Amino acid sequence: MDLMQLYHITLWTVFLTGIGVLAILFFIPAPYGRFSRPGWGLRLDARTAWIIMELPAFGIILASFLLNLDKIGPVEIVLLLLWEAHYVYRTFVYPALLRGSTRSFPILLILFAWVFNSANGFINGHWLFSIHAPFALSWFADPRFILGAVMFLSGMTINIWSDRILTRLRKDNTRSYGIPQEGFFRLVSSPNYFGEILEWCGWALMTWSLAGLLFAFFTFCNLAPRAWANFKWYRKTFPSYPVKRKALIPFIW
Ligand code: NDP
Repeated sequence: MDLMQLYHITLWTVFLTGIGVLAILFFIPAPYGRFSRPGWGLRLDARTAWIIMELPAFGIILASFLLNLDKIGPVEIVLLLLWEAHYVYRTFVYPALLRGSTRSFPILLILFAWVFNSANGFINGHWLFSIHAPFALSWFADPRFILGAVMFLSGMTINIWSDRILTRLRKDNTRSYGIPQEGFFRLVSSPNYFGEILEWCGWALMTWSLAGLLFAFFTFCNLAPRAWANFKWYRKTFPSYPVKRKALIPFIW
């Protein structure tokens, strides 16, 4: 099998897995964090889990970039920097910011995320730096690039800001949960997920690629059911939970 065949098979696999994940997670929340429960085998602490899960997304796209240096231009460099800004944060900074004794992750889940991040790093890197490169310099002035970059950076800001609000709720270094009251939490229960989805929709637009679109689609399939489960959990756990707050999409859902 050559790389092009592997690329097409991986695109289809990500698409079909996304549909499966969407259907399953609405009924069975992934067993980590507030939905941790026994019966999922061996587990690893959350900090180590995040590093292992996200490392392939950081490394594989970088490898793809380095293997195609002869085709690389300024647009490719900017796209790589934006992708890696997210993954440096998620792989190395976010785990270090987690407070207190974090809940552990089942190794099965870590393995699934590791495989997905490898596949996703591969399809995005291969399309950007091997199949499509180089973008014309005029792409920087294209409305798709500009709007996509605005969405990406806004989504990343909302995501990181919301992650910080949550970690600050754990000042006492316990595993307790509170009602977050700042920032986009005033509008939705899971603004970190909203930011993440916005970010990858921006990426899809900015790269104008099927690989980017599938990543945005998969992120939605993965995070929308969890946002719904979080929303129901907050309402059940805290009788004083703000009634106007939505689950994921401000003012809508
Ligand atoms: P959560 O919001 O469930 O949890 C984030 C952290 O905050 C955890 O340490 C959690 O502790 C803690 N926490 C959550 N709610 C509260 C609360 N009410 N009070 C106090 N502490 C709280 O996010 P995830 O762990 O699911 O995801 C983390 C990040 O990773 C997010 O930014 C998300 O967007 C991103 N992500 C992206 C995915 C993708 O498909 N691209 C997939 C999954 C995550 P505890 O662990 O004890 O619950």
